[in-house]
Amino acid sequence: MTRPVLAVASECVPLVKTGGLADVVGALPRALADAGWGLRTLMPGYPGVMAKLGPASEALSIDNLFGGPARVLALRHDGLDALVLDAPHLFARDGSPYLDAGGRDWPDNDLRFAALCRAAARIAAGAMGGWRPEVVHLHDWQAGLVPEYMAADGTRVPVVMTIHNIAFHGLAPASRMGVLGLDPARFTLDGFEYYGQVSALKAGLVGADRITTVSPGYARELTTPAFGMGLDGVIRARREVVSGILNGIDTGLWDPRTDPHIRRYQTPRGKADNRSALRAAFDLPDAAGPLAVVVSRLSQQKGLDLLLDAVPGFVAAGGQLALLGSGDRALETAWARAARSLPGVGVRIGYDEPLAHRMFAGGDAVLVPSRFEPCGLTQLYALRYGAVPVVARTGGLADTVIHANDAALRAGVATGILHAPDDTRALADALEQLIALHADDAAWKRMQGNGMKHPVGWESSSRAYAALYQSLVA
Ligand code: ADP
Repeated sequence: MTRPVLAVASECVPLVKTGGLADVVGALPRALADAGWGLRTLMPGYPGVMAKLGPASEALSIDNLFGGPARVLALRHDGLDALVLDAPHLFARDGSPYLDAGGRDWPDNDLRFAALCRAAARIAAGAMGGWRPEVVHLHDWQAGLVPEYMAADGTRVPVVMTIHNIAFHGLAPASRMGVLGLDPARFTLDGFEYYGQVSALKAGLVGADRITTVSPGYARELTTPAFGMGLDGVIRARREVVSGILNGIDTGLWDPRTDPHIRRYQTPRGKADNRSALRAAFDLPDAAGPLAVVVSRLSQQKGLDLLLDAVPGFVAAGGQLALLGSGDRALETAWARAARSLPGVGVRIGYDEPLAHRMFAGGDAVLVPSRFEPCGLTQLYALRYGAVPVVARTGGLADTVIHANDAALRAGVATGILHAPDDTRALADALEQLIALHADDAAWKRMQGNGMKHPVGWESSSRAYAALYQSLVA
């Protein structure tokens, strides 16, 4: 007998993904099943999701969900117990889950995700036939209003709120409270008010019984003004219910021995073919130096503007760089220009999951120079695929990579290179160290081997989530 949990998120692998949130939300049900927890995951029925659905049953019908009819469809998809909110007036549009075709936020994003939360609260109250969750697990601001609606309905089920990135607050003008069906009496410092606006994330943080974030390092950082993004006071006030549980990766989907997108390998030696193929794909010549890769959203957070400044020196020293990413238009343009002017740099603007697999398989190193990073997944893929992570010393990056300082190298335990965040000079130094270590064959192989052995799955973290759930229902 599994114990029922309702998970609520705006994206979930394998149905819809724009970033790491989807990977984690998609991996948790599998990770927790063995511990006896049965997660059903509620997400919006974007066109891409609706197109992937096979036979589904209608689990709940809502006559009017913020301006139109809606229903919740229940189905199994690729091992996932999915609940899909089909509300065409909110989700049947071209574009990404959050942005229109021009790259702007949908103007009614507050309402779209409030609808997800409203439907979740109905399910938590037992509206879906006989199924009633023992725990409700919310992910990021898109699920943040659930406790408000549960309180309005008088539903008492323990709630866990997981912060994947505190930079996104889900703000709406106070004048939207009526449209969103929120109780104005809760528009206070202790409620969902945030500097005169409605904050969906804050609603989740004040309404949840437990708050988790995706690494112990980020959990500590969130209590500070530098990383709390204006919510550090809320986090500090709730300190006793906050914990950091490190993300894992789906080691079934990300396994160099079985990955269908690559030339499979068991040991780092098997990377050579993948590296040649990757060089060819990016029009890069053969070279003796390391091929570094980046797979990332292009945003201020990811520090790829700093890399633009550091990369000419890296290339001059014999390194090469292949970058796959999309996002900020100015960064896309700058990186496309870098690829034209620097012979050792290849750039692909876009989102391409199979190519991402080939990049981790073919890359000698994976660069993650983020200014802040709640957990980060690409450094974990790097470890698993025998690519050496070169990462900023922040959040989950610092929790998952063992820096190649003299002591760690001597002890033979290093897995990568850490550098101070938000510092071009430190990044350039790290790239210099990368070149030097790559030239030291024994040290390099040792690091690759250490990385491939480093645990990056869900084993210990799924136990931590299971213990958390258990503590709430005990
Ligand atoms: P974030 O969630 O902040 O974007 P993470 O490192 O946690 O960062 O997760 C990013 C996820 O998105 C990883 O699975 C990464 O491989 C993937 N990804 C990012 N950009 C691209 C892209 N352009 N093409 C394919 N996959 C990408």
